[in-house]
Amino acid sequence: MKLDATDLRYVTSDEFRVLTAVEMGSKNHEVVPLSLIVQISGLRNGGINKLVGSLAKRNLISRVQNAKYDGYRLTYGGYDYLAMRALSKRDSMHSVGNQIGVGKESDIYIVADAEGNEMVLKLHRLGRVSFRAIKSKRDYLGKRKSASWLYMSRLSAQKEWAFMKILSEHGFPVPKPIDQARHCILMSFIDAYPLRQVSEVENPGKLYSQLMDVIVRFAQAGLIHGDYNEFNILIKREDGEPIVIDFPQMVSTSHENAEWYFNRDVECIRTFFKRRFRYESSLYPRFRKVIEESGETGFKLDVAVEASGFGRKEMKVLEEVSFFYLILWPSLKLIFAVHGSCKGYRRT
Ligand code: ADP
Ligand code: MG
Repeated sequence: MKLDATDLRYVTSDEFRVLTAVEMGSKNHEVVPLSLIVQISGLRNGGINKLVGSLAKRNLISRVQNAKYDGYRLTYGGYDYLAMRALSKRDSMHSVGNQIGVGKESDIYIVADAEGNEMVLKLHRLGRVSFRAIKSKRDYLGKRKSASWLYMSRLSAQKEWAFMKILSEHGFPVPKPIDQARHCILMSFIDAYPLRQVSEVENPGKLYSQLMDVIVRFAQAGLIHGDYNEFNILIKREDGEPIVIDFPQMVSTSHENAEWYFNRDVECIRTFFKRRFRYESSLYPRFRKVIEESGETGFKLDVAVEASGFGRKEMKVLEEVSFFYLILWPSLKLIFAVHGSCKGYRRT
């Protein structure tokens, strides 16, 4: 989806009120009836048709004809707009540049502040694959019956933000978190190539042990990345040092499947190094040993994240969704791929 920064300036204050009203109404209505938009926005009924019309024309909301009533729904475009407006009001971000990544769960843009310093804007997009599939199975939303993708994308961004902040504060090689709003995270731009694109390195053994060392340091701090692979490791152009990204699926080492997640992260690196660099080592971290050695004394970042406001409950909701995205969906994808019906799927 294209983000149009110029659009940021061309939404009138009345249109903004209507857009915000649709967002608020979405908390308990899948389709927000016009009467509720009128009520929340406090605008006279007369002008409202024109306002919703112009917002719908720009794809910030969409009109939905429901069996019971007609109404409007906030689109990703509208949600993007609200988040970017919040970031630009706070002077965190000034302009939007090129899109540099399309993930299965995010869009990544280069943006800049007023001085022209480049940053990265990550817009979380849960629900792009198929939220309906998980929603139908279990009630993840509790009383919240609607706006699932808005809510999940925001939770995912909040989780990533909480982790990025704490990891960055504790000296882990991660991007610097700058700001967060709704489903968006603003972070430092890393001038790098994803490891996936690197065909040769000077010293594979050195990089291998640096990457394993990060896994061990994560675990000593009580954390497991959970999606530690060549797509989520960036190699800096400047000095070849690795930077780790993408944290919405991080789990605590006290999670019931912690060892499994840990081993999978380790295996991803081993397999990649074998294939890409023909590098193999008998040395690799073992979960139990790392946990035993780190003991109870270390500062536990999983506990710190929880204290930062991203609580156990939110974590649980996301974990269940991550289970879908990281385990169930890839398996389904594999089955589809075997049958040749899932072409064009790109992993990031
Ligand atoms: P997803 O959750 O969709 O996988 P990621 O956080 O992994 O999203 O980002 C997707 C891609 O965007 C990465 O593989 C990388 O190429 C690019 N990217 C993400 N964050 C940054 C950053 N801070 N600096 C430079 N490139 C980035
Ligand atoms: Mg990724």
